[in-house]
Amino acid sequence: MSFISIQNLTKSWGEAPAVNDMSFDVAAGEFLALLGPSGCGKSTTLMMLAGLENPTDGQIHFNQKNVTDLAPGKRKISMVFQSYALFPHLSVKENILFGLKARHVDPAERNKRLSEVLELVDLGAHMDKKPGQLSGGQCQRVALARAIVSHAPICLMDEPLSNLDAKLRNEMRSEIRSLQKKLGLTVIYVTHDQIEAMSMADRVALLNKGCIEQIGRPEELYDQPATDFVAGFIGHPPMNLIPDEETILGIRPEHIRLDESEGISSKVVNCDYHGANTLISTKFCGHILNFMIQGHRQYPAGHTLKLNWDRGQAHYFSRTTGQRMADITQNHFMNEGLN
Ligand code: ADP
Ligand code: MG
Repeated sequence: MSFISIQNLTKSWGEAPAVNDMSFDVAAGEFLALLGPSGCGKSTTLMMLAGLENPTDGQIHFNQKNVTDLAPGKRKISMVFQSYALFPHLSVKENILFGLKARHVDPAERNKRLSEVLELVDLGAHMDKKPGQLSGGQCQRVALARAIVSHAPICLMDEPLSNLDAKLRNEMRSEIRSLQKKLGLTVIYVTHDQIEAMSMADRVALLNKGCIEQIGRPEELYDQPATDFVAGFIGHPPMNLIPDEETILGIRPEHIRLDESEGISSKVVNCDYHGANTLISTKFCGHILNFMIQGHRQYPAGHTLKLNWDRGQAHYFSRTTGQRMADITQNHFMNEGLN
C-alpha cells in the first residue's frame, strides 16, 4: 500500500455529492496537486484527509494505518491555508511555536526547531513582529514555518498562494517546492491554478464535479488528455475543441501554424498581442479556432488566414462520453479541409 492511500472517498451533504467515490495513492515524498475549477471538491477532499470533515463513505490510510476515524491531531499532518490562519496577537515566533507548545514539546527542542525553520524560510529578522507588521508573503512564510516545525511527514495545503500578487506567487512556488524536496515532505496541494499545479507537482489530479478526470504527470495531462474536459482545462489558452458528428477534434493553439498552400481557410475575429507572441482568434465552420503566433501580428477582422497543423498534434474525443479516442486518423474536418 502507498504512503497515502485513498479509497472510494465520498462526501455528500444531500444533493449531488461534493466528492464522489474518489480513489488515489500518493507515494512518500511525492508532491500531488489537486487541481480543478471552483466547487469541484478540492477543499472537501483535503478537509477529509485532515480529519476536519467526516467522509460519507470510503477509507483513508496514512503509512499503512487506517486514519479514517482518527482525530486531526493524531494524523501526523500539518496544514497551510490561503488565509494564513495566524494569531494576530502573537509574534512570528509565538505563532510558529504554538503547536509545539500545545503538544508540550520540550523547550530545548522547540528552540532548536525554531532556529532551523527561521533560517529555512528567512524570517530571522522578523521573529518578534506581529502578523500585522508583515507583508502577505511574509505571513505566508510564517504559515509555512509553522507547518514545517511540526516535523509532520504529510503537509496539506489549500490554495496557499492565492492571496499573493503574481511576482511573489512565482517566488513562493519555487520556494515551497525546494523546501518540500529538501525536507522530503509528502505534499497534497490544492489549487485552481493550472500553472501552479503543472509547475510544482510531481503528479496532478484534475477534478471535475467531485471525480478525478485524470491523474498523472503534468506532461501526461498536457500531451495525452484523457477527456475533453482535461483538454479544455490544461493549457493556456486551452485546447481548441471542435465538435463534429461523433467526435470532437482537439488542437492546441500553439500547434497551429500559417500554411498558405495547404491550410484551411479561417477568418480573423480578434488579435491579442501578448509580448512574445500574439493570440489570434479566428472563425472556422462556425467555431472559434485560437492560435498563437510568435511576435507582434495584427490582421483586420474578417481577413482570411490559411491554418494547418501536424496530424500527430490532433486529439480526438468521443462526443458522447468525452473520452479520448485512440488513433483516429481522419474525421469530417480533415476530409473537407485538409485532404
Ligand atoms: P473547491 O474547494 O474545489 O472549490 P469545495 O470542496 O469547497 O470546492 O466544495 C465542493 C462542493 O461542496 C460545492 O458545491 C460546495 O458548495 C459544497 N460544500 C462545501 N462545503 C459544504 C458544506 N459545509 N455544506 C454543504 N455543502 C458544502
Ligand atoms: Mg476550495
